[in-house]
Amino acid sequence: MHETTLVSRSAQGLRCEVCQWRCLLADGEWGRCGVRQRQDQTITVHNHGLVSAATIGPVEDYGFRHFFPGASVFAIGGWGTSFPAHHDAAYHAQVPTDPAKQRSIDPERVVGFSQERMTRGIVWAYNEPTMNFEHVLETARLARSTSRMTGMVTNGYWSKAALDQLAPYIDGLMLTVYGLSDASYQALTGVEQWQGIFAGAEHAVKRWGCHLEITTPIVTGVNDSSAEIEGIARWIKRKFNGLIPWRIIPSRDADTNAATSVRKVAQGLGLPFVYGAQPTETTRCPKCEWAVIERFDGQPRVVGVSESQCENCGSEVYIRSSLFKRNKLND
Ligand code: SF4
Repeated sequence: MHETTLVSRSAQGLRCEVCQWRCLLADGEWGRCGVRQRQDQTITVHNHGLVSAATIGPVEDYGFRHFFPGASVFAIGGWGTSFPAHHDAAYHAQVPTDPAKQRSIDPERVVGFSQERMTRGIVWAYNEPTMNFEHVLETARLARSTSRMTGMVTNGYWSKAALDQLAPYIDGLMLTVYGLSDASYQALTGVEQWQGIFAGAEHAVKRWGCHLEITTPIVTGVNDSSAEIEGIARWIKRKFNGLIPWRIIPSRDADTNAATSVRKVAQGLGLPFVYGAQPTETTRCPKCEWAVIERFDGQPRVVGVSESQCENCGSEVYIRSSLFKRNKLND
């Protein structure tokens, strides 16, 4: 059994420092994630190396629109979520009890497979990657040493300690933003202290140079108010010059109209890179309208960009397509 590396010890007991719950655990007690458990003087990782899904596909399948457009990636997921409200609803939340369904893959094999299949990199998706912190970190380090790009689809509820270890090896983050209020976060995730998610995202971009994009799954009557959408738009403008791509998608079939309305509101707020669920729109320079990413039949092609700037007018268009060159926000 693998042990949690981010642990603090005090007179009160043993605390797991992997995510923002910072669970204080008595002997035998499980963390809120349901994948870490205190056993004597250690915290055991019960999901270490176990995979819930692994597939090869375009990076757009994981929500990215400005991150290595059109690249093929090896996407893997483990088990576990840091949001208790998802335990019953999310398919990849709990480790299967049947040992026959507990498949594992070691970091060398993940990176080797990515190389053999000539993918541009590795994306952690499906479950919350922070729940597999130790395995993701080891794999991301190996991936970096073989010049694979790395991305994570995350809820951003990592601890700062976990982020500061992971971020130097992670090129791109697709952050799910559930709203900008206590009511939205409590209803959709079960967490009360959600502000740290936004501070962490900013830290990842400005301290570590991670490329950031966000996705908001709209739930009718929960997170679709104008006030909430305007709040997120203000955050993107204030912290990132308005350049972060924002994907607004329906959470379920019943929410399609609400998501379309929210997307129109967001576009009307002056954000240049607002997208829907399908990767079909041409991306244009916000200043001169020059096409910078064309997407015919869902096939993205970067056509008018030089080092993240529009080739026509020189404006920043926040596109990351090089392992070595970062865009302006990350300088
Ligand atoms: S990963 Fe998060 S939820 Fe799980 S034990 Fe650690 S602090 Fe608690």
